[in-house]
Amino acid sequence: MAADRAADSITLIAVSKTFPREDVDAAYHAGLRHFGENRVQEAMAKFEQPLPDDAVLHLVGNLQSNKAKHAPGLFSTVDSVDRVSIVRALDMAASGREATLDVLIQVNFAGEAQKAGGRPGEALEILQAVGRSSSLTARGLMTIAPIDATGDALRQVFRDLRQLRDQLLQEAPRCDLPELSMGMSGDFHDAIAEGATQIRLGRAIFGDR
Ligand SMILES: *Cc1c(COP(=O)(O)O)cnc(C)c1O
Repeated sequence: MAADRAADSITLIAVSKTFPREDVDAAYHAGLRHFGENRVQEAMAKFEQPLPDDAVLHLVGNLQSNKAKHAPGLFSTVDSVDRVSIVRALDMAASGREATLDVLIQVNFAGEAQKAGGRPGEALEILQAVGRSSSLTARGLMTIAPIDATGDALRQVFRDLRQLRDQLLQEAPRCDLPELSMGMSGDFHDAIAEGATQIRLGRAIFGDR
């Protein structure tokens, strides 16, 4: 492929927010196994009837502490962990249910322009909090590129995430952070070229919202 990356090194997450369960089931039958939702409430309703065991449900949107109790059991992975208080809330919720959860640390390189995600300088502290938890495993990093970023500036965001991951591995050598969740319908080509291992596609799969 264009970026000289093996297709099986990239996981496609079908982001099904706003789309009905029938569309998710159709995507499952077409062979997709990873699905993403951005709101706990919507996901609880949509997946009241759980997906088959081989499906993986990702929470990719901002999580409020008071909703954390619903995440274990519903989601296999929370890809939007952006503060230590959420690590604690998720760990408590998962321990209480004797469940485990994978997490990605969401980082925001755009500053004030974008609210979701921790600052790059906070990632180590969040990672260490995950390390101290009993039920969570950090699997990597996630970012959303600024909506107006194009060209080199866009590429730089994805490069920044990869470089932050490499830096964290030096600072916290016992961690394993194989996953880089970056790239959406409008920018996944650049993300793949910069090393994305997971791309999150909504509109490109399900159509316009
Ligand atoms: C909606 C959403 C996506 C998918 O966006 P598209 O532009 O529809 O591909 C990816 N990641 C997150 C966090 C989202 O909220």
